[in-house]
Amino acid sequence: MRTVIVIGGGASGLMAALSAAENRDNRVLLLERQQRAGRKLLATGNGRCNLTNTGASIAHYHGEEPSFARPALERFTPSDTLAFFAQLGLLTEEEYGGRVYPLSNSANSVLDVLRFALARAGVESHTACRVSSVRREKGGFAVACEAESFFADALIVACGGAAGGKLGGVTDGYEILKSLGHRRTKLYPALCPLLTAPEYPRALKGVRADAAVTLLHGGRTVARSAGEVQFTETGVSGPAVFDVSRAASVCGGGAEIAFDFFRGRETQSISDLLRARRAAMPELEAGELLTGMLHNRLGRMCVKYAGIGGAAPLRTLSDDDLARVLGCCRDFRLEIRGTAGFDAAQVTAGGISTAQFDPDTLQSRLVPGLYACGEVLDIDGDCGGYNLQWAWASGALAGRLET
Ligand SMILES: Cc1cc2nc3c(=O)[nH]c(=O)nc-3n(C[C@H](O)[C@H](O)[C@H](O)COP(=O)(O)OP(=O)(O)OC[C@H]3O[C@@H](n4cnc5c(N)ncnc54)[C@H](O)[C@@H]3O)c2cc1C
Repeated sequence: MRTVIVIGGGASGLMAALSAAENRDNRVLLLERQQRAGRKLLATGNGRCNLTNTGASIAHYHGEEPSFARPALERFTPSDTLAFFAQLGLLTEEEYGGRVYPLSNSANSVLDVLRFALARAGVESHTACRVSSVRREKGGFAVACEAESFFADALIVACGGAAGGKLGGVTDGYEILKSLGHRRTKLYPALCPLLTAPEYPRALKGVRADAAVTLLHGGRTVARSAGEVQFTETGVSGPAVFDVSRAASVCGGGAEIAFDFFRGRETQSISDLLRARRAAMPELEAGELLTGMLHNRLGRMCVKYAGIGGAAPLRTLSDDDLARVLGCCRDFRLEIRGTAGFDAAQVTAGGISTAQFDPDTLQSRLVPGLYACGEVLDIDGDCGGYNLQWAWASGALAGRLET
């Protein structure tokens, strides 16, 4: 009998443990530092768990060497994820953009079926068990926790990354793998809110809008996205902002974010609407110019942003004034002051260098018998279920313990 230890009971570790337990010659131990496994999973997708994306392809993944993720993603596709969970009794529903959620709309359902599966597979779970060090010993690994120690013939490190600190995001996995000779790349918070120059977002706090989003650095476009944007107390958030946050994080200071609140619409048609409103309601206050076209507060802000007093009657606005307001709606710019940091991030960009792992097995090229999966590796995905797909796919592959 071979003892396999999985460090970390998050998405990738739970999957790795189940995958390893498929081989009846393996005794599988799952060590989790928190009081219960899968805590972060419960918070995913705003508590609904966006567990995969039917369009997950390599183009949605990043890192120094994104193609590293290809073999795992091809061997365990989104269809495999759905089949795997269906066989555990989880009903799912596909929503816009290929995002898949449990039909129950509760992340608990995902964790519950995984817990049942672990028990059925005979995985020995140890919670409140933080691994503090790992040493190579007698052809295997001596794994030390605070209160007890274990011996493993094979070891899978699934400790996740630094993102989501309050949910268990820690840097332990990097330290464990570094102590075994591995290298870590620079870490950045990704899929996170952005902090902006404060005056506009604060006034817009709570406003949601649909927008095309462009991230600029030194006048150059570095990332684009589209979809929901939310204005917060300190900046901007929402899926479309998350999608450019990785690039904002990596390029550091000096970036700007530009929103087009009329994406997919002809400038001429909006311009005609504005002129028609001026003609029909000449005494209406300029602050109401965009009423019915944008969220009221956002509309008033675009008028202000164009340098026009909100109380001015529409009849006093020239064609140039209208064009300027429209320009502000199509290119509403804010200076980026930073990101909201690892605690507010959904994923860590960067991690343990994939160059030292075999992409076909996820075994270390430096230490035989050592495997890693999930976010601890230098692979991160876009917003929309791609990160959990990587966690399931890489966990399933690592758990096979192929050499
Ligand atoms: C708020 C939030 C929402 C998200 N929503 C989504 C979403 O809807 N869809 C999506 O695809 N992705 C989402 N993500 C990202 C996704 O949750 C992660 O990418 C994924 O959980 C990574 O899985 P993992 O197993 O690698 O790491 P984790 O899930 O972080 O699990 C690592 C586990 O290892 C444990 N651990 C760490 N160190 C030790 C140690 N020394 N000893 C023992 N145990 C240890 C941790 O306690 C943790 O339980 C979200 C993330 C956050 C923070």
